[in-house]
Amino acid sequence: MSALILIELNGSEVSANSRAAITAASELSDSIDALVLTNDSAHSTPVASLSGINTVKMIVSPELEHPSVEVASKLVAEAMSGYKYLISGSSTFSKNILPRVGAYLDVQPISDVCEIKSNNTFVRPLYAGNIMATVESNDETMLLTVRATAFEHSPDGGSAAVENLSPSIPESNSIFVSLQESQSERPELTTAERIVSGGRGLGSKENFALIEQLADKLDAAVGASRAAVDAGFISNDYQVGQTGKVVAPKLYLAVGISGAIQHLAGMKDSQVIVVINSDPDAPMSRMADLVWQTDLFDALKDLNDYTQ
Ligand SMILES: Cc1cc2nc3c(=O)[nH]c(=O)nc-3n(C[C@H](O)[C@H](O)[C@H](O)COP(=O)(O)OP(=O)(O)OC[C@H]3O[C@@H](n4cnc5c(N)ncnc54)[C@H](O)[C@@H]3O)c2cc1C
Repeated sequence: MSALILIELNGSEVSANSRAAITAASELSDSIDALVLTNDSAHSTPVASLSGINTVKMIVSPELEHPSVEVASKLVAEAMSGYKYLISGSSTFSKNILPRVGAYLDVQPISDVCEIKSNNTFVRPLYAGNIMATVESNDETMLLTVRATAFEHSPDGGSAAVENLSPSIPESNSIFVSLQESQSERPELTTAERIVSGGRGLGSKENFALIEQLADKLDAAVGASRAAVDAGFISNDYQVGQTGKVVAPKLYLAVGISGAIQHLAGMKDSQVIVVINSDPDAPMSRMADLVWQTDLFDALKDLNDYTQ
């Protein structure tokens, strides 16, 4: 019942998603390998030093610097031979690849797993997290994506063996053109311990800068509601919710956000929720540990002055 972790790298670092996938895999199997698709054999080093991995299977080729999803999914499907589970963190990376691997292997992927009940029974959210479904799979091979907020992140401390695989790299109909990454000095949204998140109540892109200012003072990540993103206050990389990022920080400070179910789906597992809103009936307040019912501009001025 061995498990293969599809590793997602951020540059040369192993993503928090992949570390959570290892912890999830350890609940299913005591034989866990990792698969890395890359153009750089040096990427074996950070993966081999992850705790809990037996063997790192490397597929290294210049063509894998920016592999198309068609190429990646075919290589992953071939590498699955002999494994019971393929596990990856929930992210756009895995959501792109695993359904295609499922098509090659003729199995149904199970996404966003939050809890493992047994070796074929998993808990996952439905309807924007309003229902937690317990699903059972009878497939011979199981493909899972797991939420990084629901599992501990496996630390460094291992010394796995490294094995090079040499499959032929399949042809692809699509080619890589360019990559535009948003650069930020702030903590990464999905793994941040503190998040200051702004909504439509901010009123403008210029006012949204007050959220960024406070986030910097608190060493926090910036989040946003979809209404704030749609209004152009900030880019959609920062959207929290059903169609944005899922977060579970220690502190979630929601400023001028009403608390639609689609927003709550992305942040309801936060440990402490603080709401700044002038509307006492905003649904967000029902989730909150602390509600500051006031004009948000007064509150942000006070907080920004206080934290100077
Ligand atoms: C399929 C689908 C997917 C979606 N996915 C997401 C998602 O991933 N994430 C998401 O966020 N939304 C999502 N939405 C949109 C969601 O339904 C809401 O429209 C959105 O979350 C509202 O954003 P908001 O709370 O910023 O705006 P509003 O609902 O307009 O709330 C603004 C809040 O600001 C308060 N406010 C205004 N001025 C002040 C002031 N001066 N001082 C204090 N408080 C003030 C108001 O009282 C109000 O509570 C989705 C919708 C659909 C249909």
